[in-house]
Amino acid sequence: MVRPKTEEEIELLRINGDLVSRTLAEVGKMVAPGVTTAKLNEMAETFIRDHGAVPSFKGFEGFPAALCMSVNDVVVHGFPSERPLEEGDIVSVDCGTLYKGYNGDSAYTFPVGEVDSETRKLLDVTKASLYKGIEAAVAGNRTGDIGYAVQSYAESFGFSVVRELEGHGLGKEMHEDPGIPNYGRRGHGARLQNGMVICIEPMICAGGRGVYLAKNGWAVHTSDHRNAAHYELTVVVRHGKAEQLSTFDYIEKDGSIKF
Ligand code: MG
Ligand code: MG
Repeated sequence: MVRPKTEEEIELLRINGDLVSRTLAEVGKMVAPGVTTAKLNEMAETFIRDHGAVPSFKGFEGFPAALCMSVNDVVVHGFPSERPLEEGDIVSVDCGTLYKGYNGDSAYTFPVGEVDSETRKLLDVTKASLYKGIEAAVAGNRTGDIGYAVQSYAESFGFSVVRELEGHGLGKEMHEDPGIPNYGRRGHGARLQNGMVICIEPMICAGGRGVYLAKNGWAVHTSDHRNAAHYELTVVVRHGKAEQLSTFDYIEKDGSIKF
């Protein structure tokens, strides 16, 4: 059984959601050809700590950095590196915070400079599939309704859905029940109820859905080495509806950034 969050807990999760959202926007301002993901990671860690929070990924099961930086065929859990980003790359940035005992968790895939039209479509469709999932995150629905919404949308464009990784509940722990798969059948899975805080995070591949784990034990690559995108938001089911606790508005509504 999942214990619904109290209003006080939801407020702390909202503060964390706001901080991860603003951190991703800070990263987005700096994403450009020639910049290293190590540099972006360093800047983000400083930003998070300056706001009195801790980067929750750092040290989690031995993960070495504040952010996951997953470039091109890396779906998730990439390490920041000294390889400069290149025009036409995409970089999926996953950010977690811990503040006053609660977690924040969101991700965004940024284009580096100009990307080709197929890649642009992958980004747009993956993000739109996330919003389809959020629309389905209403009280009384089940996790399978979210998965179905994400999957049916993404696959209608010929893209594929990673099955090995999924979204999750969020609270004092970074990963809580229930799991939120990005594929599924309507009416199946755990029932959503008011007070549930979940992260929905489609991982969508331009080609096939096969993935493998890199030798470092972390980075998940597409088997065909085609691009994958990853967008994640935290939502609470509240008053029956899905209410976002994190947002891409800081990235997209600031006129200076064109994502
Ligand atoms: Mg995440
Ligand atoms: Mg997550």
